[in-house]
Amino acid sequence: MDIYAYITNWEGVRLKPYCDECGQPIVWRGAAGWTCKCKPSANISPSITIGRGRDLSVVGLYSGEDVMMQRNDVAERLAELPKRYDWFNQMQADGEMMRAYAIVDLSFNCGVGAVGEFHDMIAAIQRKDWRAAAKAMLDSAFARERLDRASADASLLENGEWPSL
Ligand SMILES: [Zn+2]
Repeated sequence: MDIYAYITNWEGVRLKPYCDECGQPIVWRGAAGWTCKCKPSANISPSITIGRGRDLSVVGLYSGEDVMMQRNDVAERLAELPKRYDWFNQMQADGEMMRAYAIVDLSFNCGVGAVGEFHDMIAAIQRKDWRAAAKAMLDSAFARERLDRASADASLLENGEWPSL
């Protein structure tokens, strides 16, 4: 297990755009435009193009590009989180990289900004009370929504070892 496989376990691998809310593919429905399962009558956007003219909606990613993207995404989080949060910086300085990965995964689930709203968890991390930090993570909207993922992250945060998935 490494951070890439760990995140992939939760996020999956999809080479075509999908809706972050319902998880279903964004598909072309003629007059209705681009829709997904939770917004069947909403034209989500015009055709989605990225990079140097890649039609993301139709072509998506070629195999292997997703791996490169994930490397960059994780590297970006590992640069952004310590810049934004002193306590995360401290975890890295203390060699608590495995526990820090629980926070990296949390940021993939709820965003880097929302990580700062886990006040009880952060206070416990600052005390290095890993058990309380894990408990705080489980007492959250994140855990109510994604108990499997939150339980794994809480275990990683408490024990500093990959949980069995
Ligand atoms: Zn949707």
